[in-house]
Amino acid sequence: MKREGWIKAVLAGAFVGLVLWGGVPLARHRRFDVPIVKGPGVSSVVRLSAFCPGLEGTPGDTFVFVLQGKEPGGKALLMGNTHANEPEGMLAALVLIENAVVEKGTLYVIPFFNNSGSRNTRPGDGYPLYFDVPADGGSRRFRYGNRDASPLDQWPDPDVYIHYPDRQLLSFIDVRNTNRTWPGRPDGPLMERVTFGAMELIRREKVDVAVDIHGAETMFPVTNCIVAPEKSVKIATLASLTVKAMEGFENHVEPSPAGFRGLSHREIGDYSDAMPFLLEAPIPFLDQPTGPKTTKLLLDGKDPFLLSLSKKKKLFVPYDETGWPLEKRVGQHMSVTLEIFRQFTKKTADRPIVVRGVPRYADVVKNGVGRYLSNPAKAASGGLVMN
Ligand SMILES: [Zn+2]
Repeated sequence: MKREGWIKAVLAGAFVGLVLWGGVPLARHRRFDVPIVKGPGVSSVVRLSAFCPGLEGTPGDTFVFVLQGKEPGGKALLMGNTHANEPEGMLAALVLIENAVVEKGTLYVIPFFNNSGSRNTRPGDGYPLYFDVPADGGSRRFRYGNRDASPLDQWPDPDVYIHYPDRQLLSFIDVRNTNRTWPGRPDGPLMERVTFGAMELIRREKVDVAVDIHGAETMFPVTNCIVAPEKSVKIATLASLTVKAMEGFENHVEPSPAGFRGLSHREIGDYSDAMPFLLEAPIPFLDQPTGPKTTKLLLDGKDPFLLSLSKKKKLFVPYDETGWPLEKRVGQHMSVTLEIFRQFTKKTADRPIVVRGVPRYADVVKNGVGRYLSNPAKAASGGLVMN
């Protein structure tokens, strides 16, 4: 071979090597399944496609864990990983699935609401692909995902996303954001089918309360709060005041703006009889002016740049050397969710939702999240769901 031929071969080989070096970890991450242990309260596990046939066999389909109570009562839907880069929602959902026993009513829990997003990443921002939570038997490993569904699953993006059915013009990327595609439609883009499946679940099963669990930047005003539309605001306010008085953490109420379409806290309320609540806890990892996006920052929420910004009063939440650790974020979500159920039950005595076995804020802060995650190696046969 001529010299030129050799150079071309070496360059081609280097290119293929580079593609594999970058691509193989991404392909593995996309295929990595998280074991979920069916807790004592789980009565059945179904797929969201049962409520939207257009999801069947697609990467948008996801598991719904049903926890039917010993006595009838009200019904609640919980969603984690609507944004798969805000893992406190998914972990709060897992804590419920693996621990909760429902005395009255029924819970529907979707831990990976945007399943496609949970298998996506943001390489340009240096996101880690996984994070580990210390737990019984070592640690539990989870995929760290992205805010939006993977373009491998929904493509191409439009120039502008025209929301259905309001025709409001949204950013092109929001067509893959499951907190902009509500209420969805059965034959729309994949993420509209995901939200439509959840809307159908809510309508057919007569769900009373829908809780969508998130995390938000410390520099974003809508953080550390419950977002609620008019119909949910009374219960949200009572829940917020009660956790502050009884458990000592701040959690204010933000009104859901009627003119901003596609969000769960708006469309679930408008297109069903359910009362929606969107929970936000501060996640310093998502703020822009931080150090490297490490799993340590994701877990402990400690960052020197945010600390100095906090001293200049640029953050919307109190922030000190203790950061904003995962256990605080998940703990807040557990307590606020349980308090929403309690306030709903007080107001609607004929539709009680009574759950036990779930830790509250102080428990999670003291013992860590992993204390409330089961060891998949010790699960009974048939007791695991790979998601
Ligand atoms: Zn979010």
